[in-house]
Amino acid sequence: MTGPFKLAPLPWDEKALEPTISAKTISFHYGKHHQAYVDTLNTLVAGKKFADMKLEKIVQATVDSQDDLEKKIFNNAGQVWNHDFYWRSLTPAKTEPSGKLASAIARDFGDASTLIAQLAEAGKTQFGSGWAWLVSKGGKLSIEKTANAMTPMAKGVNCLLTVDVWEHAYYLDYQNARPKYLESVLGNILNWDYAADNLAKEDQAVRAAAE
Ligand code: MN
Repeated sequence: MTGPFKLAPLPWDEKALEPTISAKTISFHYGKHHQAYVDTLNTLVAGKKFADMKLEKIVQATVDSQDDLEKKIFNNAGQVWNHDFYWRSLTPAKTEPSGKLASAIARDFGDASTLIAQLAEAGKTQFGSGWAWLVSKGGKLSIEKTANAMTPMAKGVNCLLTVDVWEHAYYLDYQNARPKYLESVLGNILNWDYAADNLAKEDQAVRAAAE
């Protein structure tokens, strides 16, 4: 299957997140689920204006569409973007919030463990499939949850981190125990450096707009 959209490489080896997430889960989640979203998106956009658009623009252009084809395009484009973002939200390296991110966490949550508890709660209470997010709105951090393929980015919100809470993200390793998956991921493999980079990009965008 060819088309404008490609499966982006993982930022680490499939085994790198063990024991929190097994190589088997990554191989199905990335190699089957994520790949299928890319392939379906390529099929859906063939010959359409969307074939020449960036992924982010497609998500933002179709989020509120009532057209059946555009709803399918939104679901698959959203899932491609969300998974790219999820893989980069995870790392086998031990990272900690630092610099401006650490200050923003202290200001908006009190401390990182409060943030993590709220992110876990969002993931646990997302009914059915979806995502839990750390986002920044004008530099103020907050937690959001979204259903299915929805992403805060669709509405222009700056995302810092995400955790996939679709069953396919954890069922092979944790079966039905979504809270255990969340506790393990949030405590061990969140990529705080990626969150800090995403926060810094928002600063740069604000400065560029002011100049
Ligand atoms: Mn997934």
